[in-house]
Amino acid sequence: MVKRLSIVIIGSLNMDMVVRTSRAPNAGETLFGQDFALSPGGKGANQAAAAARLGADVRMIGRVGRDTFGSELLEVMRKERIDTEHIGQSEAQTTGVASIVVDGEGENRIIVVPGANTEMGPADIAALEPVISQAEIVVMQLETDLTMCAHAAAIAHRHGIPVILNPAPARELDDDFLQHVTYLTPNETEAGILAGMDVNSVDEAGQAARILLQKGVQNVIVTLGSKGALIVNKEGCLHIPGFPVQAVDTVAAGDSFNGALAWQLTQGKALAEAARFANAVGALAVGKQGAIPSLPYLPEVEQFLL
Ligand code: ADP
Repeated sequence: MVKRLSIVIIGSLNMDMVVRTSRAPNAGETLFGQDFALSPGGKGANQAAAAARLGADVRMIGRVGRDTFGSELLEVMRKERIDTEHIGQSEAQTTGVASIVVDGEGENRIIVVPGANTEMGPADIAALEPVISQAEIVVMQLETDLTMCAHAAAIAHRHGIPVILNPAPARELDDDFLQHVTYLTPNETEAGILAGMDVNSVDEAGQAARILLQKGVQNVIVTLGSKGALIVNKEGCLHIPGFPVQAVDTVAAGDSFNGALAWQLTQGKALAEAARFANAVGALAVGKQGAIPSLPYLPEVEQFLL
């Protein structure tokens, strides 16, 4: 049996409130939508569930409120077999929420109110150094406190543990932080914002990635939606094509990619192979509705890749 290795995911947990509509409303306009669903999400929780469903041993570090949504999210994480020991419950802040509008094309527009997700600071993460130092890989996104994330990356770096940073939503990052990032996984928009240029093509994604490499990141993997992913590192630039599928709902596409990439890397896979597998997981996730409910289990991915 393959030894299960531990992935530590430091990130957000949100309750997603998802509205489906034929098109997004304009300013000042009210529309009738088709349906509404409450669904557990947050980039951290989604990435943790994505990796756990593939068979990874996942520990999550994060914070929810001491409220109904918080308790529900903890329960969902436990059901996904994620270690929740280090998910705290805030007395002061409410559980994070995301308001998501999915249009008839399957495109989504999202507003996040982070609440308890931003409560953890550098001192809180410093206290968890023993947990971080036991990880095979650390995965983060940017829906939590930025200085906490930078501190976590520095701790991981000190222990020689690789860090995946999914820079979503895009925020300005110090070079110090980027120098502690082993794998940076922006989508095209985020790559453009971080590099300070427009990214509208695979070529431009490559240019943006090279700018980010110069800031000290070791590997940049730009996710390209249906076009797959572009790996850029000191060895060069490699396009890993996506898998053609009918996109139903792109919520959690990037999250499924990141969870899968982390799991593959802990299995000792080469980056190109890991990205191909992550593309398959991303493709399966966009073929279904929802965030966590859309994430595939390992047999489904293996079947898809046959
Ligand atoms: P994000 O969700 O962060 O914006 P992307 O849209 O780049 O990220 O999607 C992440 C990954 O999900 C892609 O690299 C790809 O593997 C997969 N993916 C996304 N959209 C599609 C699609 N329409 N068809 C096939 N795969 C997709």
